[in-house]
Amino acid sequence: MVRYILMDIEGTVISVAFVREILFPFAKRRLASFLHDRRQDPDVLQWTTVCQDAIEIETGTRPGYEELPVMLTGWIDQDRKQAGLKALQGMIWDEGYRQRAFVPELFSDVLPAFTQWRVRGIRLGIYSSGSEQAQRLLFAHTNVGDVTLLFEHFFDTSVGEKKTASSYRTISAQIGLPPHHILFLSDAEGELDAAALAGFSTAHIVRPGTDASTRYPTHPDFTHLRLEG
Ligand SMILES: [Mg+2]
Repeated sequence: MVRYILMDIEGTVISVAFVREILFPFAKRRLASFLHDRRQDPDVLQWTTVCQDAIEIETGTRPGYEELPVMLTGWIDQDRKQAGLKALQGMIWDEGYRQRAFVPELFSDVLPAFTQWRVRGIRLGIYSSGSEQAQRLLFAHTNVGDVTLLFEHFFDTSVGEKKTASSYRTISAQIGLPPHHILFLSDAEGELDAAALAGFSTAHIVRPGTDASTRYPTHPDFTHLRLEG
């Protein structure tokens, strides 16, 4: 019997293209002008200092503020998971969401399913490699409005990597339910493997345009998932 549904974001509730083709390129394009416009902002300076410290430790040379756009753009290209960079990207996305420069569109079956699951008393949570801050921003600004209140948890890689079984054990402990009561939904086979190894129920969601070759039974959407044990 499923009592909690844990979900991936990209390729599961929204298209993979939103993050890869809209969100990340926006942060990269906006980085230099953002750092220039907000150079007096203490929040920004707190995180640029974290980045400068990290670069100094790595290279032995402390970069000037004006050198940061080029260096941080390099980090974005290398997909570096650095706390300072993540926080700055979060601030840039926050601006973008507020200005409605982009709007994440949930697949059309998603909100009706969430509502139905909540009515049945099933608890909901997110597990994504994007930071908790980035996840909350995304769900606060969807095409169907702010849906953050539907979720009890926003797990990110601070619990561990998504393809590692121990991450799911940590999540199960934090949720306070044994693994077999938790259903994990994802478009990535490696993540499902890790969750299954930890004892979670799993369902492979295969949205249009994602790879359908898999060892798991697939579901095109959230409409007909089996929730009884
Ligand atoms: Mg995914």
